[in-house]
Amino acid sequence: MDISAALQAWMLELDSFSIDMVPRFADRPVPSQVLSVMSTHSAESMRSSEAQQGAPFAEAPVDRAAALQCIAQEIAACKACDLAAGRTRVVPGQGSAHARMLFVGEAPGAEEDRTGDAFVGEAGQLLTRMIGAMGLQREQVFITNVVKCRPPENRDPLEHEAAACRAFLLRQLASVNPEVVVALGAHATRSLLQHDGPLSAMRGRVHDVGRMKVVATYHPSYLIRMPSMKRAAWEDLKLALSLLKPAAKPTA
Ligand code: SF4
Repeated sequence: MDISAALQAWMLELDSFSIDMVPRFADRPVPSQVLSVMSTHSAESMRSSEAQQGAPFAEAPVDRAAALQCIAQEIAACKACDLAAGRTRVVPGQGSAHARMLFVGEAPGAEEDRTGDAFVGEAGQLLTRMIGAMGLQREQVFITNVVKCRPPENRDPLEHEAAACRAFLLRQLASVNPEVVVALGAHATRSLLQHDGPLSAMRGRVHDVGRMKVVATYHPSYLIRMPSMKRAAWEDLKLALSLLKPAAKPTA
């Protein structure tokens, strides 16, 4: 989607809920350097993060795309939890292997199960607009979920299912090695931060996970049901954006 159109759409949504705070750059064209800089990447390793989280990679692999493809192939063959029995397709996630921002949702839904792509339903469209409002495109970030197979009846993933799938998530994080991770909803926040606190207590601030910065916010599905919370979510997204190095931020 064209960034200007996406930004305009998101701003209209904000306007419709009387949201008056707007980032400094929101009403200006997104400069071309924003697009190019998002595919460059820091060479910093995740050594400390991996030691803390138990991720299997000692450092980000040289060929990140190949590493992600390898993980996706393992996911496709995985039957480590009961969700394997009900899936049509696995949904490993997709996006730039060199993304500086990575989004983690909860679990695939019906549309994701059918297509094999993460966040392609109604919630995915809202996420696209949220990303666009940040001055980014979906192709510049990486999007995945806590579990890679659809839970039956769209129920929440169970604790043991998330635990079984967590190694895949950690390996994806280690492969992409993003500067900022946005946890979408309580399940992603719990999996990333290994914390049982309510999402309301975890959002609105920055969490250090090794070298990565994690910002928790509401899941787009929740925002569709509770549009009044878009204001708070937008504050979280601005916080996440502020964590990128200055060269990566949209400039005036
Ligand atoms: S949800 Fe994860 S752990 Fe469970 S079968 Fe699918 S890929 Fe394997």
